[in-house]
Amino acid sequence: MTNLCLRRLAWSCQWRSSQGDILSTGLKTMAMASFTLHRPHTLAEAVRLLEEHGAQAKLLAGGSDLVVNMRMRIETPAHIVDLSRLDELRAIEFDPACGLRIGALARLSEVAEHDIIRSRFPVIASAASQVAGPNIRNMGTVGGNLCLDTRCVYYNQSYFWRKANGFCLKKDGTVCHVAPGGRRCWAAYSGDLAPALLALDATIDIAGPRGERCVKLAEFFVNDGIKKYELAPDEIVCAVHVAPEFADWRGIYLKYRVRSSVDYPLAGVAVAARVNEAGRCEDVRMALTAVNPSPRLVKGVREMIVGQPLTPERLERVAELVRQTAKPLRTTVAASTSYRRHMVGVLAKRGLTALLTP
Ligand SMILES: Cc1cc2nc3c(=O)[nH]c(=O)nc-3n(C[C@H](O)[C@H](O)[C@H](O)COP(=O)(O)OP(=O)(O)OC[C@H]3O[C@@H](n4cnc5c(N)ncnc54)[C@H](O)[C@@H]3O)c2cc1C
Ligand code: SF4
Repeated sequence: MTNLCLRRLAWSCQWRSSQGDILSTGLKTMAMASFTLHRPHTLAEAVRLLEEHGAQAKLLAGGSDLVVNMRMRIETPAHIVDLSRLDELRAIEFDPACGLRIGALARLSEVAEHDIIRSRFPVIASAASQVAGPNIRNMGTVGGNLCLDTRCVYYNQSYFWRKANGFCLKKDGTVCHVAPGGRRCWAAYSGDLAPALLALDATIDIAGPRGERCVKLAEFFVNDGIKKYELAPDEIVCAVHVAPEFADWRGIYLKYRVRSSVDYPLAGVAVAARVNEAGRCEDVRMALTAVNPSPRLVKGVREMIVGQPLTPERLERVAELVRQTAKPLRTTVAASTSYRRHMVGVLAKRGLTALLTP
């Protein structure tokens, strides 16, 4: 995090404390509640702080998601643990025997521009280069992108808006406005990097007071807009690994959004394929984002594609499978659910065509 941003954070706190109760008017609802900022120098110190403050603490990486949510009073942590001094989580390394390791604090712009990632793991570079706009990619980190909060039009609003329109199950309320009869949250997972990493069967390293563990990314995400991940409040995502056998897979990430300069995905599809020297596809994997509460691997694509000619009929069958995997609900007003479902099919066909057309 830059000094400028920290100054802005500090300014918000001072402004808040000098104004007393500020929740009653429009602009002032964007000020943050007070918090204590911790700036550990080591991973062990960061873990200890999380253990000490439990659910009262939040991790801060680039801050491009968390700070917005704090301003809207969606998040009101009493303690912020700033990871920006943990240089041990920043490296991007490739070893032909061990594969690719991307530290959780690597910036998205570094990932998008990294020579080895671009040339040998192109689906990751493709996804990283399409997150938001250049300034957010310079701030946003890999860990923050994976642990992004889920999004919904009834949730990503100021406290003032939510109070006036009725709180919801995810924050301060008791009912889901999207699916009123249900007891679960359908807010959409909207990170761009996760589908690309799922397409390469990535794993992540997690550190906590009970030690370190490595989990498959596919098992990390929970299909529930509130719980979101298998991550305890005192744990930190440290790095992402991609096994060496996925080096040199062809890959592409395609994204549907309203403003291509900055917006979150309304539907996103990552496709990765192993293609031999004769140009034949030997394996293919596909994953989706923004159309479910968690990013999803599409099961069955390999069986439909490998060893088969890429005909329009076959592509249409894959598109149908993809549409069945996507379950978007009315969590945004930017596009209808039927159009988002249609678009994942379109993007899946475009991705396969781009990778596998001789
Ligand atoms: C205008 C705008 C447009 C955006 N567009 C996109 C988009 O198109 N695609 C997209 O994917 N995102 C988008 N974002 C969201 C966000 O900017 C990015 O996802 C970014 O990568 C988040 O990373 P960060 O480091 O800033 O996360 P932070 O805001 O620092 O953290 C995000 C969350 O992750 C947690 N966290 C951070 N690091 C770790 C860690 N190492 N271990 C465990 N938890 C951690 C934090 O506690 C927090 O809950 C957009 C944001 C804005 C403001
Ligand atoms: S899906 Fe329902 S519970 Fe979840 S954020 Fe939206 S309105 Fe709230």
